[in-house]
Amino acid sequence: MDDVIIVGGSFAGLAAAMQLGRARRKVTLLDTGLNRNRYASHAHNVLGFDGVPPGDVLSQAREQVAAYPTVKLVQGRAETVSGEPDDFTIKTAEGESFTGRRLILSYGIVDEFPDIPGFAESWGKTVIHCPFCHGYEVAGRRWGLLFSSLLSLHATSLYADWTDDITLILDGNDIPDEERSKLEKRGVKIHDGKLAAIQQAGGGISGVTLEDGTEIGLDALYAHPRNRPSANLHEQLGLDTKETPTGLMVEVDERQKTSRDGVYAAGDLSNGMHSITIAAYSGSMAAMGAQQSMLG
Ligand SMILES: Cc1cc2nc3c(=O)[nH]c(=O)nc-3n(C[C@H](O)[C@H](O)[C@H](O)COP(=O)(O)OP(=O)(O)OC[C@H]3O[C@@H](n4cnc5c(N)ncnc54)[C@H](O)[C@@H]3O)c2cc1C
Repeated sequence: MDDVIIVGGSFAGLAAAMQLGRARRKVTLLDTGLNRNRYASHAHNVLGFDGVPPGDVLSQAREQVAAYPTVKLVQGRAETVSGEPDDFTIKTAEGESFTGRRLILSYGIVDEFPDIPGFAESWGKTVIHCPFCHGYEVAGRRWGLLFSSLLSLHATSLYADWTDDITLILDGNDIPDEERSKLEKRGVKIHDGKLAAIQQAGGGISGVTLEDGTEIGLDALYAHPRNRPSANLHEQLGLDTKETPTGLMVEVDERQKTSRDGVYAAGDLSNGMHSITIAAYSGSMAAMGAQQSMLG
């Protein structure tokens, strides 16, 4: 039996596996190889790896983690979970079965692309979700923001650190008059219409068209599509979750412990601040929580 089974072997899961491997704990890490940022050609704001393709960061991490003899990396999709602390069982879609004393769920989330021509093709390139990750490269240019919740209004003031050319596309949503006039005073251009299509040129976007035919020239479009967890093991385990403006996340305490003993969650699945560094931090904390819960 393993000490810990980790489901999801990207930034959070690998960080957890490394920490447990260094503590000589027996670990199986299951992964299907679909890290959320695989659409982006380069990852940014990652200490030591700024501007490196995300796949390269992960392969180096995998190689380093695999060097710990008590850690086993398995290509496989965890499908079902059962059991109790000291005796959990995970079965995979490939027909394998693993038992472990503790679980760390780090299977991330899936972005659900809206059905807008050009959206999926541009995702992670010039349709982006986070200015810290990909904003520097398009600083000073024409930025659009597709409204997704009232948090979008806060985002426009954050974006002012990168550009003073910001267009908010309300996509058919209403915002309070008071908020509208505050934005207009700050120079944010507002369009009420619904987004109909994204135009691409030279590998990036060149603008968008609204349903009423309005065309807006843009060099980057920020968007926060709905997302959902990549698997449903948290549902099978009956874990507490909470709603976020764009999806849901598994509730955890400061050591990443979920509402069930023996089960920890890390990365985008359990945290609203989506970044590689924060995913790795939470993976490390989950490993610490799981390890401490097994000490005599
Ligand atoms: C387009 C884009 C670009 C981004 N760029 C950056 C950036 O430049 N810098 C930055 O800091 N952040 C960036 N982010 C955010 C960053 O990608 C995430 O915060 C980070 O990937 C979260 O890591 P994670 O380990 O929680 O999940 P993920 O990276 O999503 O990994 C989850 C892993 O679990 C696996 N998995 C899923 N289901 C199962 C299952 N049932 N069984 C086994 N394995 C499973 C998946 O295959 C995947 O390997 C970007 C996000 C997006 C969407």
